[in-house]
Amino acid sequence: MNESGKLIVVSGPSGAGKSTVISRVMENDKSVVFSVSATTRAPRAGEHEGVDYFFIDKKHFESMIDNGELLEHTQYVDNYYGTPKLPVLENLSKGFSVLFDIEVQGAMQIKKQYPEAILIFVIPSDFSEIEKRLRKRGTDSEEKIQQRIKTAKIEYLMALNYDYIVINDDPDLAAFEIKAIITAEKCKTVNRKKYLTEVSLS
Ligand code: 5GP
Repeated sequence: MNESGKLIVVSGPSGAGKSTVISRVMENDKSVVFSVSATTRAPRAGEHEGVDYFFIDKKHFESMIDNGELLEHTQYVDNYYGTPKLPVLENLSKGFSVLFDIEVQGAMQIKKQYPEAILIFVIPSDFSEIEKRLRKRGTDSEEKIQQRIKTAKIEYLMALNYDYIVINDDPDLAAFEIKAIITAEKCKTVNRKKYLTEVSLS
């Protein structure tokens, strides 16, 4: 790979349909690697260890914090979530772009360490869709659903800190928008300057 990898941070409230959009973004694009987070949350049906998350207990998570093994971490609806540092550094050094599915606090921590990170916020066009999707998923108790809705409202307030907002009413269209953002970022003059150096006026 001859171009340097990007950090692509995708956030958006639980129920915004991010996972589906992200998997469509990554289909057929070998230059983008997904950052698999560690979490203390229990796996949902269909989720796989090391693919969707590394499912670990609180003690293990806290030891990762203490040993500086996480690039960022946060607590979200009673559970810890964090990004293992090593795979991110390795993938970036190989020229891959790394895509993060993380919430707003984590996104701000990444932006602080990597100001060039691209921050994308995904939401449906209608907020009420979030509650509908959380209920349809059928994985959370009523109490957890209410907590996730409250957290979603707080996350909306942070959206102005993002570089892009993608509307997800149709996952294919939302994935198309994210791919377009990644492409445009790669084509920025600052990233393509090296192609100008061979030309001289002589
Ligand atoms: P869920 O439990 O629905 O999989 O995820 C809950 C929230 O945690 C989502 O907004 C998701 O983006 C976020 N999340 C997942 N992994 C991480 C992580 O490593 N760090 C942070 N800060 N948030 C994460």
